[in-house]
Amino acid sequence: MVAYGIFSSPLGKILIARSELGIALVEYLNSEKAAASYLAQLAGGEVREDKAGVEMVYHELLEYLDRRRTHLDWPLDLRWAGSDFQRRVLAATAELPYGAVTSYAGIARRIGTPSAVRAVAQALRRNPVPIVIPCHRVIGNDGDLVGYAGNRISLKRTLLSLEGVPVAARGRRIERDHMYVRAGADTEYCVPTCGSLSRQSLAGLTLFGSRGHAESLGLTPCASCRPDLHPLSA
Ligand SMILES: [Zn+2]
Repeated sequence: MVAYGIFSSPLGKILIARSELGIALVEYLNSEKAAASYLAQLAGGEVREDKAGVEMVYHELLEYLDRRRTHLDWPLDLRWAGSDFQRRVLAATAELPYGAVTSYAGIARRIGTPSAVRAVAQALRRNPVPIVIPCHRVIGNDGDLVGYAGNRISLKRTLLSLEGVPVAARGRRIERDHMYVRAGADTEYCVPTCGSLSRQSLAGLTLFGSRGHAESLGLTPCASCRPDLHPLSA
């Protein structure tokens, strides 16, 4: 049994569907008519409208969009996701923390297929549960906000801004120079000018909108560039 509801949100109409195992779909709707084609993806699921059945999830989503919540710890039901590859991409993306970004190439590297950058982008374009699995935190290697929910860059910008990720004035690119940096799996974080970091590909980096976001993961300030003593100007 899959229960679904269509709700209003600051991001427009949203369809939420859940099975007995977990959330199966979160979709932005251009119109209520579009819901049918999304629900058709749930092949074999017995789908029925049941707003009350997903109402609590909807309220948590509203809290998230109002910055009263930074995590949506919902059980997910990804059995309708396309392939094992897509599930691996989604799992790696789910690990990106709040307030952090990396690139499609970075996700490809993390799942052990560094050349599969386009396939990663395709897999995220078909993310069945955006926001919950934060594909908005995955950007182009040059920092561009590309490919979100079709081509709705403004949604990606809104979700990143919400988390304190600086987006350039013209709104299509993150401001890498204004973000703290973690290289690979380092236990320290840096200012972007430390060592050779500013010349390194985003693929090997995670960027943070604030020191707090980096430190909430247990990262400590780099002993060389000392972001704690020399923080970036806001
Ligand atoms: Zn450093």
